[in-house]
Amino acid sequence: MKKKQFKAESKKLLNLMINSIYTNKDIFLRELISNASDALDKISFKSLTDKNLKINRKALEINLGIDKEKRTLTISDNGCGMTKEELEHNLGTIAESGSNIFKTENQSKDISIIGQFGVGFYSVFMVADKVEVHSKPYESEKSYVWSSSGEDGYTIDESTKKTNGTDIIITIKQDSDEYNYSQYLEQNKIEELIKKYSNYIHYPIKMEVTHKHLKEGSKDEYEEHNEIETLNNMTPIWKKEKKNVKEEDYNNFYTSTYYDYEKPLNIIRYKAEGTCSFTSLLFIPSHAPYDLYSKEYKKGLQLYSNGVLIMDKCEDLLPDYYSFVKGLVDSEDLSLNISREILQQDRQLKTIAKNIENKINKELKKMLEEDREKYETFFKEFGMQLKIGIYNTFGMVKNELQDLLLFYSSTEKKMVTLKEYISRLKDKQENIYYAVGESIDKIDLMPQVEEVKEKGYEILYLTDYADEFVVQVLQSYESKAFMNVSNADLNLEDEKEKEKIEKLNEDNKSLLDEIKNVLGDKVSKVKFTNALKNHPVCLTTEGAISTGMEKVLNAMPNEQKIKASAVLSINAKHPIAEKIQKLYKENSKEVEKYAKILYAQARLIEGLTIENPNEISDLVCEILSK
Ligand code: ADP
Repeated sequence: MKKKQFKAESKKLLNLMINSIYTNKDIFLRELISNASDALDKISFKSLTDKNLKINRKALEINLGIDKEKRTLTISDNGCGMTKEELEHNLGTIAESGSNIFKTENQSKDISIIGQFGVGFYSVFMVADKVEVHSKPYESEKSYVWSSSGEDGYTIDESTKKTNGTDIIITIKQDSDEYNYSQYLEQNKIEELIKKYSNYIHYPIKMEVTHKHLKEGSKDEYEEHNEIETLNNMTPIWKKEKKNVKEEDYNNFYTSTYYDYEKPLNIIRYKAEGTCSFTSLLFIPSHAPYDLYSKEYKKGLQLYSNGVLIMDKCEDLLPDYYSFVKGLVDSEDLSLNISREILQQDRQLKTIAKNIENKINKELKKMLEEDREKYETFFKEFGMQLKIGIYNTFGMVKNELQDLLLFYSSTEKKMVTLKEYISRLKDKQENIYYAVGESIDKIDLMPQVEEVKEKGYEILYLTDYADEFVVQVLQSYESKAFMNVSNADLNLEDEKEKEKIEKLNEDNKSLLDEIKNVLGDKVSKVKFTNALKNHPVCLTTEGAISTGMEKVLNAMPNEQKIKASAVLSINAKHPIAEKIQKLYKENSKEVEKYAKILYAQARLIEGLTIENPNEISDLVCEILSK
């Protein structure tokens, strides 16, 4: 067959691989063994549901072979195998989504990309001059061989392989000054690597091992005999006694099973006994996968029935707000031949899911209490999931999740919990104050924030677009209602101040009506306020939709534009207040121009756009040049 080129992006990746971005070349074996194990899982699964597929699940295994003369290392499995098309698609190109990232992400993130896509197969080119993949799927009589020497492309031809599954024949590179490649042709090295990285693989990994011993009756003559040995221990890591498993073992299991390049932030090992007993091993990753918030992301835990994998991603085991959790559940009480549909209604499964949810919640709370720094790392990566969780369930899980939230505090200058905020309430404080903006710096400059701070209240700065929606769903925390500092009913003035401002508003009713008239339905009200310190104007809002939410909602692709019910508040203490009163008394047309400019300014401060920048610019210049 004619030589085919790798897809452009795959080529780039191959290049990275060959030039060894994984400094640790050893891991190629782990990657290939993981693939083989996956292939065995796949066929094992299939046999659970496909009556026509008759396999002996006990015979599923991985075999390793070394040929020193030919310099080859062979990895065979009797797993699902690949068709010609699959060989082409799986090995000639990396996943489409993967290659897209290459176009956008920056180069220094290459390592993370490789980790995230688990493009493990290509790692073989760190140690190989040539690779042949012979494969035969169960459904087909024909077998094919994919062959490549790296960057210059690959071929696919018919193969003579008769048995089901895949044989990967690796021709190991010649030794160089820098590296001893021949070690991968040594029995001891291979044994060591399997023990180190693949010990927990739950299929036997077998190799013909040569044992040397003294010939009977002789003192110096040796005899060799060959024996097929199983190199891995095979006891699943979650079934081993806790004291016999090192953290490093869990980390190794995690990185290779869940395709992550970083060790997990937290490991949760949990065993439940009772009506439905199960063991679970859960991991909280230390970073969000690139696609966590995309439609492609599939949550779920692996589901084992007494050591046999029966589902790779059981969605029903995790609520959406914990969809970042990786791991597995093993229960002896689940039937092996259970179908997906039955599983969904399975009471036992629901019990397990509830149990797991509670456990994750407890662990996160523990982390928050005991290791704040670690928790903040977690929250940076996954806080958004918790927020979306509160929002999407309309507050149904607020009791579970609200204490896991962190917000930036104006007084503490760091992230705080709602509980901590409540513990610092001022005497008679009835509200939890919050302000919304793009960044902490921008919120700090907001006119509405200034006065609330001045009065000594702590303000939570909501900088995430989801934050305000969350706060609206929560409504209150420990019976203190959330209150946007931009709300027109903030009510922080004392009685005397209130009276004064009410009188000012009454006395100027016709002026304020006139401004409202000029602005039309852009604002619902215009008023003087003494809740501002230095700034001349600001927009406050009445009703449920704030200007912050208006921004978020209108950034979404929907037809109807949403408008917050805006109140234009003019600082009564600012000279501009007097100026417009004076102009109005002089019956001047200027009031109209001032109204437009003041409104535009208030929008700009809020980070909103103005609809008529030309007109406003002309007006400003007209007034400036007087
Ligand atoms: P990943 O394992 O992350 O998907 P790889 O590059 O390691 O990426 O493998 C690409 C694909 O090739 C796998 O998803 C699988 O479909 C297929 N594959 C690799 N090795 C085998 C094998 N031994 N048997 C069957 N399919 C395999």
